[in-house]
Amino acid sequence: MKEYLKKVSNECIHCNACTKKCLFLTKYKIDLADFAKNPNLAKSCFMCDSCLRACPIDLDGAKVAISHREDLKGYSLVKFMKSPYKFRNNSNKKTKDILMFGCAFPGHYPKTTKYLIDLFYGKMDFSIDCCGKPLEDSGLIFDFEKNLNRLKKLYNKKSVKRIVTVCPNCFYFFKEHMDKLNIEVISIYQKLKEENLLNVTYEKAEIFMPCPDKKTKELLNQIKPFVPNGKVKFRKVMCCGMGGGAKSKEPDLAKEMMNTVKSEINENIYTYCASCSASFKKSNIKNVKHILSEILAVNEEVDLSYFKNSLKLKYYKKNRK
Ligand code: SF4
Ligand code: SF4
Repeated sequence: MKEYLKKVSNECIHCNACTKKCLFLTKYKIDLADFAKNPNLAKSCFMCDSCLRACPIDLDGAKVAISHREDLKGYSLVKFMKSPYKFRNNSNKKTKDILMFGCAFPGHYPKTTKYLIDLFYGKMDFSIDCCGKPLEDSGLIFDFEKNLNRLKKLYNKKSVKRIVTVCPNCFYFFKEHMDKLNIEVISIYQKLKEENLLNVTYEKAEIFMPCPDKKTKELLNQIKPFVPNGKVKFRKVMCCGMGGGAKSKEPDLAKEMMNTVKSEINENIYTYCASCSASFKKSNIKNVKHILSEILAVNEEVDLSYFKNSLKLKYYKKNRK
């Protein structure tokens, strides 16, 4: 048995706090110690960290899932698409800060992506690439480490001192692996504030927090001053349904999460994660807004033509001439 699975099995005190917070554990009537002994459920975890936030001894269901997934061979498409990312767009231009879009935002918000590239023209180069989180989440540890090394080499060659992330997953993923990268990580919201480039949006925003920000709320705290009438809602919802690639294995649970979202919406739903926005739009939720696009006054609707947009942006060279 792998080290982390052993740790969970040995240390769990069976208090059930994780099960109470998790639809997946509840469905199978198990806690994390049982999950650690059940590799057949590897693909059922949404990697939302609800269990980790509830567990009195910080045991982590996502890590259990990753340990199980390391032995699976079912993630060849993730490997093909993300190792390295097929739609990546980088250059060798020197830049102190790099605007790192990640892989989800450009495909779903192409207009806002181009707007940001233009906004920082001559001041900061950009990178459309995958941080590697989907590789790690799929248990593709060798590929995830290879990808991180590739990015480290590329950014070092470009003399990058700070990675400016657009995606909350990239933000926390890079922060977690900063020791390997040795580059400071900040969010686009911090950068826009430094440059005094943000507008305030006064709409009564109903805010959905993406999973990676739920623990420290670092991004939410940076965003809030620019959405003064925003209120965090949907606290009971585990995740948008896209997490951990579990939707295909557990469609009923993903649907249940989405139904809870729908039942709580009044006017709109504001997110700061492009994957969450796309997930809501796919479920026919109206008035989905990305906070970044709103505070930049681009007001772009989430676009579901992900592949077409990503392919176009792969060859977008405007800032590179
Ligand atoms: S990460 Fe989320 S889905 Fe996975 S076990 Fe924990 S609470 Fe459940
Ligand atoms: S919350 Fe932690 S200690 Fe309690 S049952 Fe779950 S894994 Fe075990």
